[in-house]
Amino acid sequence: MTDVQSILDRIGEAMQATKDRGTVAQYIPPLARVDPAQFGMAVAFADGRLFSTGDAETRFSIQSISKVFTLSLALGRLGDAFWSKVGREPSGQAFNSILQLEHEAGRPRNPFINAGAIATTDAAMAHHAPRDFLAELVQFVRAAAGDEDIHIDAAVAQSEQATGDLNRSLAYFMASHQRLQNPVEQVLGAYFHQCALSMTCVQLARAGLMLTGAPGAPRLMSPARRTRINALMMLCGHYDASGDFAFRVGLPGKSGVGGGILIVAPGKASIAVWSPGLNAQGNSKLGTEAAEMFAQATGWSVFS
Ligand code: GLN
Repeated sequence: MTDVQSILDRIGEAMQATKDRGTVAQYIPPLARVDPAQFGMAVAFADGRLFSTGDAETRFSIQSISKVFTLSLALGRLGDAFWSKVGREPSGQAFNSILQLEHEAGRPRNPFINAGAIATTDAAMAHHAPRDFLAELVQFVRAAAGDEDIHIDAAVAQSEQATGDLNRSLAYFMASHQRLQNPVEQVLGAYFHQCALSMTCVQLARAGLMLTGAPGAPRLMSPARRTRINALMMLCGHYDASGDFAFRVGLPGKSGVGGGILIVAPGKASIAVWSPGLNAQGNSKLGTEAAEMFAQATGWSVFS
């Protein structure tokens, strides 16, 4: 059995010693104030074993990692009809790019870029009030994590509302092509709040267990849906650095601009890593390095 704790200890030490920690997201003010010196990582197994290092119990803004949970709800609601609304191809563009929307008549390329995630939230809301959708989402994440102490950070959501003009542009562009079924500002409000979910690495690693398909993991979706979400995470979870993440880590992962990454080792374990400093593509710099070290040490790449 791989000695996960000693691997995590080694990664924790290496990350503490790393000088270049990337740059914290600047465009959402509460994220810009987070101390970049932090690093945490947790590995959860379906049998309840949990290993961690560093700031694994510190809450952070999960941001785009929430898109995995919303996609799960939207697929549960619509089934395969969902794919008439949102594509499933890597974009090769920045997470907030508007470029391809114009070429593709407002249909976003995949559920993990911002445009696709906003359309996914719209699908998951299905004519319910934002409040009801958010309550369902929080319940779903709590059930997945087996932890009731998971909440939305209202100050972060408020700040995203105030600085979200680019997301607003994406949403109105899609609405102009009749791509959204709910009022645009309601969809945006729901989207900003889902991104403001606040969790620790330990909570996130536990919540990711449903995606591992490991015996004993919470079964909150069908095996077909789980494997497809993993495929999307592998191909689109890191935007225009998805190829780089697959190359270096070889596991499905979803990053957030708060510096978190949720990583799935199918059939084995769920991993969450967090360090607020980002690389040029808006993914956690140390988080990616730690994931690469972890995959090498365990040999858990799906390609190995
Ligand atoms: N809430 C952020 C945004 O919409 C999420 C982006 C991200 O985490 N990459 O810009």
